[in-house]
Amino acid sequence: VKTDSSVTDSPPQQKEMANCNAVVEAQRAFFRTGETKSVKFRKQQLQTLKKFVEENRHELNDAVYRDLRRRHEQTEGLEIGMVLQEIDYFLANIDEWSKPTYVQKTVVTMMDKPLVVKDPKGVVLIVSPWNYPVSMILLPLIPAIAAGNTVVIKPSEVSANTAATFEKLLPKYFEAKYLNVVTGGVSETTELLKERFDHILYTGCPPVAKIIMTAAAKHLTPVTLELGGKCPVVVEDDADIDLTARRIAWGKWTNCGQTCLAPDYVICNAAVKSKLLDSFRKYLKEFYGEDIKASKDYSRIINERHFDRLSALLDKTEGAVLFSGGERDRNDLFLPPVILDVKASDPFMHDEIFGPVLPVLTVKDLSEALQYIDAGEKPLAAYIFTRNESKVNRLLRETSSGGITVNDVLMHLTVDTLPFGGVGNSGMGRYRGKFGFDTFTHEKSVLQRGFLGESLISARYPPSTPEKLAML
Ligand code: NAD
Repeated sequence: VKTDSSVTDSPPQQKEMANCNAVVEAQRAFFRTGETKSVKFRKQQLQTLKKFVEENRHELNDAVYRDLRRRHEQTEGLEIGMVLQEIDYFLANIDEWSKPTYVQKTVVTMMDKPLVVKDPKGVVLIVSPWNYPVSMILLPLIPAIAAGNTVVIKPSEVSANTAATFEKLLPKYFEAKYLNVVTGGVSETTELLKERFDHILYTGCPPVAKIIMTAAAKHLTPVTLELGGKCPVVVEDDADIDLTARRIAWGKWTNCGQTCLAPDYVICNAAVKSKLLDSFRKYLKEFYGEDIKASKDYSRIINERHFDRLSALLDKTEGAVLFSGGERDRNDLFLPPVILDVKASDPFMHDEIFGPVLPVLTVKDLSEALQYIDAGEKPLAAYIFTRNESKVNRLLRETSSGGITVNDVLMHLTVDTLPFGGVGNSGMGRYRGKFGFDTFTHEKSVLQRGFLGESLISARYPPSTPEKLAML
């Protein structure tokens, strides 16, 4: 949602900056004691994290409500429940995942033990966005601590209430030398990024990701970048169109379209478009009632800057408005659901929308849809609604995206046995479940030898002779 030129727009922070060097060095010193390496310690920390979430779920839900006007019940389902489930999943698997794995031997090492030892990386930095301000901190934190690291968390200053809640409550559960929250905006993050971390996981937009990666490169710090993109939804005429509209509407208008995996635009033929539209109208009414602004289930745009960004796009759109669910209200940060009939040149078709506007791009057939998707930046997710398996296979084969859900949206994220992450402009690396554990782990190759089997390797010693060469 940010362009390269707007990434330094945030106002200077008034509050005193944390001494980033002291924060990181304290953690490094603690990491060096080796305490975080024991699996027992890691399990205790996961239990403490679970306690933190359970004991403070009301405060967290409330903070998210104040940031995004998202009702508690939704945050429970979309963020809190998922985090608790992930903690339990890690607790159930951490013994297995942290064990060394013994690998196949070669001829010359048949007397030895080759194994992969799971080492924590060290001090990890997690930089989070504002749209799911609880889970985008906690979902990466779970694997980071499960893998035995210490962690510095940098919540988004844009979701200021949630950031303040973490800053206030987390220190009651964890010591700063193990887990620390550094709040603030661009200047604080810039200071923090001067420090040497052993891994950085950033969730946000591509322009800031480039800043993060540049800073990390100075220390050769590995990065995981969880970014966004324009997630397309292909709808084919053999799909159950009514159910398709229901599922897309849920994914698009939850959190007012401010979801990294939200359907960005629909791409279909003209006949499908008109059928979909009838169903979108029906479900928007069913979900949010006649007066969408009054619905408790409809969230708000995060701040004036994003409201103005989306408003400017609406003012510039060349597309016909197929549906609008009310009047924009800047004072209330209310932006209604809008469905547009667009061409590829429309301003809404350039960057990730990250708001409640759904453009529908009409194409003649699936081939044209797939070519359009493949010509753009690789999105975080792609979706297709169809009963035809060969059409699904064509989407899999002919396009590249971070992930895919077929006949629904968003749901692949909920499967913790699947890796979650982008590709190309939508990110690099992945996490969730074992994939997250591995992201924050260094897989150390160990070959343990004894003093037997010397004859197997005797050919390596000088002087080289034809007899020794023949043995190789
Ligand atoms: P944001 O503005 O909250 O920024 C994210 C973080 O980057 C914040 O902590 C912020 O302080 C920091 N930051 C911002 N500008 C910076 C700068 N110049 N230098 C250093 N740090 C800086 O969030 P955003 O970037 O607007 O987030 C929205 C984006 O995040 C969307 O593109 C969305 O698709 C993506 N997203 C991706 C995922 C995912 O899992 N892949 C999840 C949620 C959001």
